[in-house]
Amino acid sequence: MTWGAVAIVLAAGSGERLGETTPKAFVSLAGRPILAHAAQAALSCGEVSSVVVAAPSGLEDLARSILQSIGPHAVVTGGPSRQASVRAALALVPEDVLAIVCHDAARPFARPELFSSVLEALAGSDGAIPLLPVPDTIKQIRGGYVVATEPRDELGLAQTPQAFAAQPLREAHRRAFEAGLDLTDDAAIMEWAGYRIRAVPGEPTNFKITTQDDLVRAELHAGELARG
Ligand code: C5P
Repeated sequence: MTWGAVAIVLAAGSGERLGETTPKAFVSLAGRPILAHAAQAALSCGEVSSVVVAAPSGLEDLARSILQSIGPHAVVTGGPSRQASVRAALALVPEDVLAIVCHDAARPFARPELFSSVLEALAGSDGAIPLLPVPDTIKQIRGGYVVATEPRDELGLAQTPQAFAAQPLREAHRRAFEAGLDLTDDAAIMEWAGYRIRAVPGEPTNFKITTQDDLVRAELHAGELARG
């Protein structure tokens, strides 16, 4: 029986909105590919024994070479959507692993403590995800008109890493695939399948790199971290 968790690191997106020629996870941040930062954070968490990385088709060997010096890893070819990439990665997670943490490579600043926090919160729930408070008032709009104002204190901005009990995650993914669903995070798949997901505090610096502005912010933040 393997008690350590396995982290799935999603790096198979094209990152079109970033406007680089290289897929996002392979773009350099503070001298190393974004993927290296994310995988290192996962493997620095004592509970995570290995990572399974979903890489874009054709970049699997590059991913392996990046991960070689970081720690135990396996690489799989990602799919056309994030959900499909997770599904492909799940096939490489050993059956006896009890907990799986899904993390977007595009969030290179998640701290190892955040991985521990979501894994600890798994006790008594099927999943646990980090959330940030919503600073703005959120409106629901339809046809150009506001139809509702969401109660802000009941909303949260979802981050990764997201931790799940392994068998429920596998089952929820299988059912979502069979139902033809394609959802944007694993918590959404688990919620749809009827599982309970616990909320833990997210980290403001655990932002996702999507645009060039995010990359500039990320370089500044990496510089601050390096200066201590
Ligand atoms: O596009 P976005 O930044 O929302 O993607 C979130 C994460 O999912 C990224 O780390 C991206 O590399 C990953 N992804 C993936 N396979 C896809 C699409 C996105 O692994 N087909």
